[in-house]
Amino acid sequence: MADDGRKNRTNWRTDTQLAHAGLDPMSFHGFVNPPVVRASTVLHKTVESMLARGEHRYPYGLMNTPTIEALTTALTSIEGKETAGTVLVPSGLASVTIGIMAAVRPQTKVLFPDNVYFPSRRFGDEVVSMFGAEAVYYDPLSNDDIRAKMKGASVAVVEAPGSLTFEMPDIAVIVAAAEEEGAVTVFDNTWATPLLYRPLEHGIDIAAYAGTKYFGGHSDLMIGSISANAATWPRLDRLHRVLGLQAGTEEIWLTLRGLKTMSVRLARHQQSAFKIAEWLKERPEVARVLCPGLPDDPGHSLWKRDFSGMSGLFAIVLKGSLEEAKRFINALELFGIGASWGGFESLVILAELEQSRSVRPWTEGPVIRLHIGLEDPADIIEDLERGFAAMAA
Ligand SMILES: *Cc1c(COP(=O)(O)O)cnc(C)c1O
Repeated sequence: MADDGRKNRTNWRTDTQLAHAGLDPMSFHGFVNPPVVRASTVLHKTVESMLARGEHRYPYGLMNTPTIEALTTALTSIEGKETAGTVLVPSGLASVTIGIMAAVRPQTKVLFPDNVYFPSRRFGDEVVSMFGAEAVYYDPLSNDDIRAKMKGASVAVVEAPGSLTFEMPDIAVIVAAAEEEGAVTVFDNTWATPLLYRPLEHGIDIAAYAGTKYFGGHSDLMIGSISANAATWPRLDRLHRVLGLQAGTEEIWLTLRGLKTMSVRLARHQQSAFKIAEWLKERPEVARVLCPGLPDDPGHSLWKRDFSGMSGLFAIVLKGSLEEAKRFINALELFGIGASWGGFESLVILAELEQSRSVRPWTEGPVIRLHIGLEDPADIIEDLERGFAAMAA
């Protein structure tokens, strides 16, 4: 796809890629953005042409359109030089489950970190056995546990930092152990995006994303993407095709639009999140801020080694009861109470850790997860003060 006019210059830096990768204005009468191609049927001039459809760039609406191609090209560009290709799926959850399915083999283990995104864990509990494999959960903070459990694994799922509690595993240890075992690594990189961490450049095989979050950035779409290295790409591409998966064209187009501002949005999310995490650290009601970007976080050195920044999502452990945690959340006016994150707005949830940890049960206080949005941080802090006041009342 090098000389088709589509912009994908490998020498461009990431912010330039975000602005231009995947665009091909001269194929669309000079219009800057690609059209939202709504398509099932693709017509052919002759029957011979139709019989050769496998060789067509756009054989059928399910497989490829100029809209799909614009986004997959852009995502492959920002994922970096180890990336052989990218496919789109209807949700972030599907990016993880399809990534696993592309690699799982019968009579093996599929490893999940104990702090994995909970719906990914449900796939482990309910679906992995249908492939004749066994889901096994590892302690992301124990390299010994990781190495021991890797024996007999065909897939190792990695998430960093972990969902809800933000522990940082030693990714290099997991990659080395998986390589030795011949297991495929599937990395859920939703938190960092390729702007803050590029899994494939650290030896990971498959990178999975909830584009629903920072790619889209406006809380108005659901999409997932999966990028793979040369060793795993053929299997992933084939499975995606055989299962008949694709994202919706409107969502794809909106995601492409979201990418244009992702870098500036993330910079602001990071700046505000640092400010607010530091402020929360000094509050007497807060036992601990779960945020690897903070210098005294136990995961800070690993985060610093591997990641180039922080996004807007972290959590706090409250000193207090569950009832006080609920009072804190209910008193917030600016923060919306809701799942998903990565949009423009601040969000809060009470983490439910009882059913989602089996290796290392959570023993500290109530955990509140915060997404720091693009609002003025002074207003965000005032809102949190309201929460603390209600907790004490
Ligand atoms: C939200 C999320 C997902 C799932 O994304 P959806 O698009 O909501 O299905 C997967 N992994 C992580 C870490 C997430 O936060």
